[in-house]
Amino acid sequence: MSPFAEAVQSYCELSPIRVWRHGSTAQRRAIFGGWLLLLLLCVGLGVATVEWSWSGMPVDMGGVTAYITLYPPLPICLLLTLTLGWWWGAIPAYCSTLVLALYAGMPLPWALLFACADPLGLGIMAIGYRGMVMRRDLRQLSALLYFVQLCFVASIFSSAGALIWSYTNHVAPGAQLPDWQGWWLGSFLQSALMGGPALALLWPRVHLWQLQHQTLMRKRRGGSRRSVLRMLATVAAGVLLYGFVTIRLAEADASAAPDVFRQTVWIFYWVFATIILFSAFFGYQLFSHWQESTDGLLNEMQRMNIDLERLATTDALTGLLNRRAADRHLDAEWHRARRTGHTSALVLLDIDHFKQVNDRYGHPGGDAALRMLASCIRSVMREVDLSARYGGEEFLIVLPETAREGAYVFAERLRERVAATDICHEGHVFRCHISLGIAISDKYEASYESWVRRADQALYRAKQGGRNQVVMGV
Ligand code: GH3
Ligand code: MG
Ligand code: MG
Repeated sequence: MSPFAEAVQSYCELSPIRVWRHGSTAQRRAIFGGWLLLLLLCVGLGVATVEWSWSGMPVDMGGVTAYITLYPPLPICLLLTLTLGWWWGAIPAYCSTLVLALYAGMPLPWALLFACADPLGLGIMAIGYRGMVMRRDLRQLSALLYFVQLCFVASIFSSAGALIWSYTNHVAPGAQLPDWQGWWLGSFLQSALMGGPALALLWPRVHLWQLQHQTLMRKRRGGSRRSVLRMLATVAAGVLLYGFVTIRLAEADASAAPDVFRQTVWIFYWVFATIILFSAFFGYQLFSHWQESTDGLLNEMQRMNIDLERLATTDALTGLLNRRAADRHLDAEWHRARRTGHTSALVLLDIDHFKQVNDRYGHPGGDAALRMLASCIRSVMREVDLSARYGGEEFLIVLPETAREGAYVFAERLRERVAATDICHEGHVFRCHISLGIAISDKYEASYESWVRRADQALYRAKQGGRNQVVMGV
């Protein structure tokens, strides 16, 4: 998956606060109103489950009797969780189970606890999708298998509610299996067979909507080490819990089972548990290792990008900015000066009779002169000023927020500094002079190019006037 697609598929939730603050009235009405209607529907369907005894119904599966509980609010709340976020699904799930339990005569304290079962299962789904970036249109084998596996673990967790149900209804230990199996198998089948196809159909539209309404979404960073660890631990715990409860309930039921068989089952369970824990542990190690190497690569790439950017904007000989970068900064400075009305100064300078320097001391001697000039510029300019090698031996300096007098003083100081600095090259010591032209920014100027042109004309006049001097442009 490309990084873009990954970022887009990563788990994010619809934020009720953002919908309230940034959503239009129609959006608010549709989202909150629609959700309330679904909540009421879930409560009604929950009561119907008790009224028509859809709990723990025996189903013949090829000679084996399995128990299934039909609980329609579950796929609805699952869809709400996976499309809008955990709270959006957990609240209707809690309300419908609470009403159902009270309707069935469960004492209030137990009902309050019992109602947590489905939100717990939905929480597992949310943790799963937060831990791993997976497409939710399920149009990929790995995405489908991941969804089914999460449905299984979530069902196991939520089926803890069946134990409370059995306890409060005084179901004998030997007869608890149908309730428990009915719950987890029913949850699992409804999630996978009803929730799955509905999600596959709805997700592309929801996803598009999410992309178009980023301001209403709260992003959560998926794939972090902590979220993956949480996901692996949850899956491992779910599978182990499943094995444990199944064997315990079956044991209570099949009291006649021979001891040898029971012992063998328990030995198998503990070996199985160890394998699961090891798999989760090594899975996490593998993930950590992969993430470390990916982080390392990303850091390296960032460092290389910074280096490349520096190389692309710096002149190798002098370390000053090159012409490309100078043009970019000049354009920005010209816009800024125009917008604020503040004046900035541009100084263009050129070494006098540089050809002679090259002729006398060779090209490396000329290069030494260029380096000396760059270091003089650096020592004279302020932090906010900007200097660049604009051509072969032509340099440009931008002095932001500087008027004529300030620019002139600066240029004179630089001219004197250069004239007084010795250049040492292969036993020779010599000096250079420079000519400088200044142009002050003008807010009526058509472009930064014409600003440079005015500085160039001033420089030309400095050359004409005898060199080694500063000329203020018009
Ligand atoms: P003027 O006083 O009129 O500026 O005379 P000048 O001899 O300096 O003439 P000009 O400005 O045209 O000089 C350009 C010379 O600069 C030609 C070229 O040999 C030299 N030059 C350009 N880039 C480099 C460089 O990177 N290193 C060296 N050593 N010389 C360079
Ligand atoms: Mg020149
Ligand atoms: Mg020159």
